Amino acid sequence: MVGLGKFEFPTSASQTQNHTKLDHNPNKSKELPNLSFTDNHFKGKTRIENVQTEQYIKAGKIASEVREMVRVKDWIGKTVFEICEEVEGEIEKRGAKCAFPVNASINEVAAHYTAEPNDPITIKDTDLVKIDLGAQIDGYIADTAVTVCYDAQFDGLVQAAEEALGNAMAMIKADVKASDIGRTIETAIKKMGFKPIANLSGHSLDQYTIHAGKSIPNIWSIGGFSLSDSSAYACEPFVTTEQGGGFVRNGKIKNIFALNSRKKTKNQEADKLLDFIWENCNMLPFALRWITKEREEKEARELLDFLVKKKAVTAYPVLIEVNEQRVAQAEHTFIPNENGVTVTTKTE
Ligand code: MN
Ligand code: MN
Repeated sequence: MVGLGKFEFPTSASQTQNHTKLDHNPNKSKELPNLSFTDNHFKGKTRIENVQTEQYIKAGKIASEVREMVRVKDWIGKTVFEICEEVEGEIEKRGAKCAFPVNASINEVAAHYTAEPNDPITIKDTDLVKIDLGAQIDGYIADTAVTVCYDAQFDGLVQAAEEALGNAMAMIKADVKASDIGRTIETAIKKMGFKPIANLSGHSLDQYTIHAGKSIPNIWSIGGFSLSDSSAYACEPFVTTEQGGGFVRNGKIKNIFALNSRKKTKNQEADKLLDFIWENCNMLPFALRWITKEREEKEARELLDFLVKKKAVTAYPVLIEVNEQRVAQAEHTFIPNENGVTVTTKTE
């Protein structure tokens, strides 16, 4: 998911909508400084507790395995429902929970589309599909994404996202400025003849919190903060074509949700649903698909609409490139340290 507001969505309407997402070139990891888990994180230097780091790393290993499965699989002819359910199943099979519904965002939809129950939209051989997935263990999240593409004319977009992510990972250590990461991403993308999406960004992570308040921009921007060795972050470059506006806008469809408040609504069934969501997802995002396993679809949809109206649940719109140009994304989760970085979702 990407940074815009709370969670990893749009960071907030007031900020021209800042959204976020990213992956790096596996062949490059050998040249990168200190990407290994073992070096620094268990030696007492880092301010992140070791047990947290271990959970982040476990979640990261699962998420990266699933992402690599997604990358090589032929999804043509599959529905987005089949994709989301299969990818979520792969995360759970490996012993993690889903940190958010798998996003399968096609072409000009940059982010935040997940399948509706039995969603019939089918992948064509000309589609560019961003698959963004999250695994969590005890609320410690690995957030990672890959763009699949079966049409060679869009390979450049995918490569630009991966290249920008790889360059960003290579420069990270504690105290690096987020604005410098943004500049590195922007430079890599422009050098390849494309545009970064300026109002989507990476984000800090916290336990059960996908967007913990800090943004990692995909363009150079003034000010900002420096990375801390006490935090986990996601970096996620989004790339569009030269004809693209380089921004996303909110679409009409909203099919990702998250709890906003646990205050009782005076509707007994709705309150039961609130408890179900809290027990299963905490404050993390969820989809209608996840509650129709317990309830009949029509009833679940009505209760969810009611909870959105009561502001107990927030609904997140899909994010669409303003000129309806195609968008590619790559994403990693990482923890900086004083000598470099642990990329929790790195490719083995
Ligand atoms: Mn993501
Ligand atoms: Mn993210």
